[in-house]
Amino acid sequence: MKGVMEKISQWREFNQRLHYVTTIIITTHLNPDGDAIGSELTMADHLQKLGKKVTILNPSPIPTSLRFLDENNTINTFVKDIHSQDIEHADLVIFLDIGDFDRAGHIGHLARDTGKNIISIDHHPQASHERYLLFIEDTHASSTGYMIYDYLKNFYPTHLNAFTAKALYVAVMTDTGNFRFSNTRAEDHWMAGDLMTYGIEPYKMYCQIYEQFSLPRMELLGYVLQNLHVECEGKLVWFVITKDVYKKYKVTQEDLDGFSDFMRSIAGVEVSVMFKEMEDGTCRVNLRSKGRVVINKVAQHFGGGGHPFASGATLKKGIDDAIPAILNEVKRVIEAT
Ligand code: AMP
Repeated sequence: MKGVMEKISQWREFNQRLHYVTTIIITTHLNPDGDAIGSELTMADHLQKLGKKVTILNPSPIPTSLRFLDENNTINTFVKDIHSQDIEHADLVIFLDIGDFDRAGHIGHLARDTGKNIISIDHHPQASHERYLLFIEDTHASSTGYMIYDYLKNFYPTHLNAFTAKALYVAVMTDTGNFRFSNTRAEDHWMAGDLMTYGIEPYKMYCQIYEQFSLPRMELLGYVLQNLHVECEGKLVWFVITKDVYKKYKVTQEDLDGFSDFMRSIAGVEVSVMFKEMEDGTCRVNLRSKGRVVINKVAQHFGGGGHPFASGATLKKGIDDAIPAILNEVKRVIEAT
């Protein structure tokens, strides 16, 4: 675990680097979640208070369920013809919660190809740090949102306000599954208590995130429950969502958030795996473990990544090939644990 002094000195370096830049792009991973969006909005607010010109530019659109956080419509979705220039003119690009360089999509590639300085702030273990000017990593933090909260608390406590408190609360709440998952630490609860002093009402936040599910999502959940595959004496549960199923139930990608977490909650299950057939013919895999079986090595083996007990990968294979390939690895890991 990184020592407190080491963490502080990395953030000091971050502050120093900021002295020399004016125009900053903030970005995050494809299909951003609550941690990604909450972290971006907080960092943007902070940097603007330092007098910087900030643009949030993402490789995919903000999920509908998180739009309430972006009160001033500051989050842009990257369009090559419109935004390439913004990247070319930036003094610095900040990656938040990225997990892997390639998950910044075209934005990362453009930043790299135009020789931009890139700083990464992340709680994921990233395989390579070499493309970054500065890499601030805390794999023990529940979320990138917590890292930013801790930074502001230490260096700019006055930059915590009603707006950033809401964004940070959602960041930490969503990455810890509403303060339930194994990554939840005492610090997250202390942070939640502190953020309540800025007007956060936990029940309101809970309803906003967890009680707004669409009817098609619930209907699809019924289908998934009826079509679960159970193997390894009940330790492994997996399910498949094909393009036809998407069409039939009229669901969006966003509607599937949390399905693999939910299936893990079955008694005796150690690992749950969701296979999604994507429009472009690739297969997205979401892996969740109850805490005994480390599954991010499986994700890494297939070019993905993530945390020991929550990880994902996109396989450039059709779903019929991806399923046996992943299941073989998962079963091997379960048996070896
Ligand atoms: P997901 O199953 O997509 O919710 O992802 C679970 C965790 O793994 C999240 O923390 C993601 O940020 C991370 N993750 C998912 N896919 C990748 C990837 N291709 N590379 C690195 N991290 C990933």
